[in-house]
Amino acid sequence: MAAMDGESTPVEADRSGPRLEAGLGDITAEQVDAIVNAANSSLLGGGGVDGAIHRAAGPELLEYCRGLGGCAAGQAKITPGFGLTARWVIHTVGPVWHGGNQGEPDLLASCYRESLARAEEVGAESVAFPAISTGVYGYPTEPAAAIAVSTVRTTPTNVRLVRFLCFNAETFDAYQILLGSHEA
Ligand code: ADP
Repeated sequence: MAAMDGESTPVEADRSGPRLEAGLGDITAEQVDAIVNAANSSLLGGGGVDGAIHRAAGPELLEYCRGLGGCAAGQAKITPGFGLTARWVIHTVGPVWHGGNQGEPDLLASCYRESLARAEEVGAESVAFPAISTGVYGYPTEPAAAIAVSTVRTTPTNVRLVRFLCFNAETFDAYQILLGSHEA
């Protein structure tokens, strides 16, 4: 391609960002390329969304996860979806909430960035996220949703659709407001 004669090259002109949606329901039923699991650092299963994903994917997922050597908070690892509709599961480990002054916001943002990076590596174009850390890990719903939305909005990615799958009305409302679509 010939260089444009101006000095500013629109390097990111084709990286307009994914469409962002909020949904209410069970993430295991999502018809997307990849669903994100709010896992714990062992990657060997747990309660909440982790338990639901392992139940829906079947025992092969746990077998596969045994070979991954765990995952640090703020990082993400990808596996096949096995029995799920989604082709991949991206396992990320959110921060445990300790009041907000122990790096929790940065770690939570990292979960969203790293998950998008794993999705991009396999060419996944649609990704559903649960509200990472807002269950057993105790992260307050609204600040967690704000970080989720702002991080996805500001992370360059080839992913075309990001759906935030909410498991309760309070979480869904928080996302609807952040996404500017609270008519429902
Ligand atoms: P964490 O340990 O990261 O807090 P949890 O699984 O306890 O993870 O909770 C994370 C979020 O996932 C919570 O908002 C919880 O309500 C939600 N959740 C639980 N089960 C499901 C599910 N099947 N689909 C979508 N979200 C779920």
